[in-house]
Amino acid sequence: MERIYLDYAATTPTHPEVVKAMLPYFTEVFGNPSGIYSCGQEAKGAIEEARVKVANFIGAQGEEIVFTSGGTEADNFALKGIAYANESKGNHIISTSIEHHAVLESCKSLEKRGFSITYLPVDENGLVDPDDVKRAITDKTILISVMHANNEIGTIEPIAEIGRVAREAGVYFHTDAVQVVGHLPVEVNKLGVDLLAMSAHKFYGPKGVGALYIRKGTKLVSFMHGGGQERRRRASTENVPGIVGLGKAVELARQEMTGEAERLTYLRDKLSKGIRERSDHIRFNGHPQKRLPNTVNVSIDFVEGESMCLNLDLEGICVSTGSACSSATLEPSHVLLALGFPPEQAHGSLRITLGRWTTEEAVERVLEVLPPAIAKLRAMSPLLKSH
Ligand code: PLP
Repeated sequence: MERIYLDYAATTPTHPEVVKAMLPYFTEVFGNPSGIYSCGQEAKGAIEEARVKVANFIGAQGEEIVFTSGGTEADNFALKGIAYANESKGNHIISTSIEHHAVLESCKSLEKRGFSITYLPVDENGLVDPDDVKRAITDKTILISVMHANNEIGTIEPIAEIGRVAREAGVYFHTDAVQVVGHLPVEVNKLGVDLLAMSAHKFYGPKGVGALYIRKGTKLVSFMHGGGQERRRRASTENVPGIVGLGKAVELARQEMTGEAERLTYLRDKLSKGIRERSDHIRFNGHPQKRLPNTVNVSIDFVEGESMCLNLDLEGICVSTGSACSSATLEPSHVLLALGFPPEQAHGSLRITLGRWTTEEAVERVLEVLPPAIAKLRAMSPLLKSH
């Protein structure tokens, strides 16, 4: 049975061209980039080349890019780095209730240390209102952090509008753009952001490497202390193959992003339309227009998301549920709860995310398998019987 992978928002396969670009940096050009001999300097050169590629891709300058171990570290760095560097100015941060855990958990850790966080609500489509951001600002506000696009429902937030609000108020603005960079055009000046997080493995680069854009002049403290790497902003010997891979992923995205976005939008719409025509008691989540080209999030009444997921897995189809599995309990998705779903409905959702190797045949196969699987699970469902 051919496996159909439809969880590209969780991670993507590394592009073979990216792997090819990385390989020499494991074996031939393995020197420490801090070494003054030629194989160290060659590695250093490769890092700087990648830095320029990443910076150009988002309209920034090389010195404004710090490589990290991924999106999570970039988010932690932005939130904690700004908070601790600007504590004397104020202790208030504005974020939203639908952020990724990398941001939410950073906020929680700051709350324990005396910072006060406002978590803005979203509307039924997951949109943040820039006027809500404006109203939440106080003279103690030092940072606004709003994600560019949500990783569960795909809604794209009005970042440029929020950027204007932040600029007018003179407050730093961070965006978690992990789901957007490499898929849609991103320009830091158009968005008006001071900090932006990205992650290579979400756009066909390797896992364990990402970057934080830090606008020149932004006051933030580092939290990785050691050597003087990354202009003293992030100590540790650089992940040279990973950074080269991120640079290559950016180069490929530059060439393929526009065409891919169009192709995926077509496939996404075919998939949603097909599901809608073949099943009842379902709802699509996320903004109908302002959303990522690759994301379908659908709530299926009277069915558990996890059972649906496992059933599709038996048919060789990998998708994700709207709820995060933790070891002991199944917590309903905080994003769907924020949209106003009651917990039992937040449990019955599927996130299907398409990508570079998704074919039209794959979408047709899902349309063949999913509706009967829903019908089968509903026939056994105590949720339906009690309805
Ligand atoms: N932010 C968002 C929106 C994400 O989707 C993810 C990945 O799931 C992250 C942050 C974390 O990125 P990483 O896996 O590179 O740490």
